Amino acid sequence: MTITPQAPAAARAVPVLPTSGPVRPLGLGQVSLTGGFWGVRQSVNAAATLAHCESWMERLGWLANFDRVADGTTSPDRPGWSFSDSEVYKLLEALAWEAGRTGDQGAEAAIKRLTARVARAQDPDGYLNTCFGHAGQQPRYSDLEMGHELYNTGHLLQAAVARLRTAGEDDLVRVARRAADHVCRTFGADGLPGICGHPEIEVGLAEFGRATGEDRYVEQARLFLDRRGHGTLRDIPLGRAYFQDDVPIRRAEVWRGHAVRALYLTAAAVDVAVERGDDELLRAVQRQWERSVERRTYITGGMGSRHQDEGFGEDWELPPDRAYCETCAGVASIMVSWRLHLATGDVRYTDLIERTLYNVVAASPSPDGRAFFYANPLHQRSPGRPADPSEVSPRAEGGTRAAWFEVSCCPTNVARTLAALAGYLATTDDDGLQIHQYAPCAIRAELPDGRPVAVDVETDYPASGTVRVRVAAGASSPWTLSLRVPAWADGATVTEDGRTRPVEPGMLTVRRAFQAGDVVVLDLPMRPRLTWPDPRIDAVRGCVAVERGPEVLCAESRDLPEPGGLDALVVDAGTGPEPDGGGARVRGRIPAHTGRGWAYAPARPAPLTELAELAELAELAEEGGWFDVPLRPYHSWAHRGPTSMRVWLPVDGAPRP
Ligand SMILES: [Zn+2]
Repeated sequence: MTITPQAPAAARAVPVLPTSGPVRPLGLGQVSLTGGFWGVRQSVNAAATLAHCESWMERLGWLANFDRVADGTTSPDRPGWSFSDSEVYKLLEALAWEAGRTGDQGAEAAIKRLTARVARAQDPDGYLNTCFGHAGQQPRYSDLEMGHELYNTGHLLQAAVARLRTAGEDDLVRVARRAADHVCRTFGADGLPGICGHPEIEVGLAEFGRATGEDRYVEQARLFLDRRGHGTLRDIPLGRAYFQDDVPIRRAEVWRGHAVRALYLTAAAVDVAVERGDDELLRAVQRQWERSVERRTYITGGMGSRHQDEGFGEDWELPPDRAYCETCAGVASIMVSWRLHLATGDVRYTDLIERTLYNVVAASPSPDGRAFFYANPLHQRSPGRPADPSEVSPRAEGGTRAAWFEVSCCPTNVARTLAALAGYLATTDDDGLQIHQYAPCAIRAELPDGRPVAVDVETDYPASGTVRVRVAAGASSPWTLSLRVPAWADGATVTEDGRTRPVEPGMLTVRRAFQAGDVVVLDLPMRPRLTWPDPRIDAVRGCVAVERGPEVLCAESRDLPEPGGLDALVVDAGTGPEPDGGGARVRGRIPAHTGRGWAYAPARPAPLTELAELAELAELAEEGGWFDVPLRPYHSWAHRGPTSMRVWLPVDGAPRP
């Protein structure tokens, strides 16, 4: 890998750059991860995942689809789903952030290689799609409900935004501009009144408009948004709520239908609301966020509790074993919350981002960056089969990370998020610096009046909760350093000038004329804690979860007596949990089974340890059958191989679901 000095254009590059708002995001060249939890994952992403994605798309013919269009050899037996083009574009986006971040020549060469193949497939009028509109294929825009044509284009535009902001105008940006112009001509105010069944074109157009300074792209995004929700698309067996065409977004009260669609659409709505000064639309989205986060979101931050439509369930419908929690929905939730934070400065949004980063995005990739979870359930009832790294997984679920999927949206979504992660960590306003996510990093920025804000963040968070912010350059006048204190951080303290004081969850501020070498230390309480669910979440009534810092913990069957130990486990909620390295321990025991042949009985099962299959455990157990149950971070589950797993632990003596 050859690293060249970073291009100056990349310094301020970010995925989301509103033209107004209370805070401005810092760019990939202004926040440099220097290691730690996220730095390691970003390095693995760069070194392994990007090439992994390209090689799979080559092997499966998803890249050759572009060559076939260019060569006029298309046919009805095209490999891949109609949205496989979008995976190439998401990889291009990830490569663009990576090349912009590090100047890596390998990433740069891959961008040029892929762009050349994509560009050759573009029709003279700007239309670009390998599944429709050519010999042996359906006509253009003949299946707006499920064809994903505009969805694909939206991802092309996001890739072009990454390239434009990190390297300037190039072939990829020119291809995207022609494609965007084609969309505006075809679907503009005087054109076809259609929308795409899978939102994405809206968020792509809005940011492309910001990046190019051409408002007509933002206007086209607004048109698509306002057209939706009026039964614009044909009805389908899953109903129009599946693609959010049931209610206009301004009137919707909650997220529903396919989770990734709902969230990509919402991200675009925030963009349009901000660019148009449309407070009514912004407030509508905020209300949807509040209700959906309260009632339709898992403790992990995961969204989507129905497999049938990869969708949101009803309020409080959050079954842990049937949790879908697609990795892409986690990425999309972060896209929404980051835009809402940039529009409002509210730390509730960055709190949810932290939860989702640690417990959805970090859960997906394997440590080597070459296998991924698609669905992220909170309870795996049976261990998955070891995945064959040379096979495509036909299923989104399965209990083990897979190298690639027939529908492979998640790996490239993780890749682009990790490559651009620095763009989500910190912001500035007119008076100072706000740090939202804690990772070892160097921040080098300046305020609008030219005053430098330069700090080094030293931390091994979340291994420990100590975050040291060391000022790297002095200032002649005061500025304000703001640090997010997570909602869970009851008992946090800050130390400055040798004085320690307690701080409340929210935004901690320290204001002074900082001198080089000044240190502010935030200490977040990392003792594991019990978390109880709202009783309206029927599926986990009578259960507790254990969290440690931003991480949700889980129990794995391989740490328990098998078979059946995890199935029957109950825990003592009156003591502990106790710290155990990066995890925790709780006291648990195994109640008697109700009997054989029938799973129901007239009396509550009593604790019992002399079951033959649990004899080994009985020897280990204390009086009363209690033993220690180790809990580990959910994001690392199944790292040691196939296992069953659960986040929610039934409480001994409590009514159980
Ligand atoms: Zn996905």
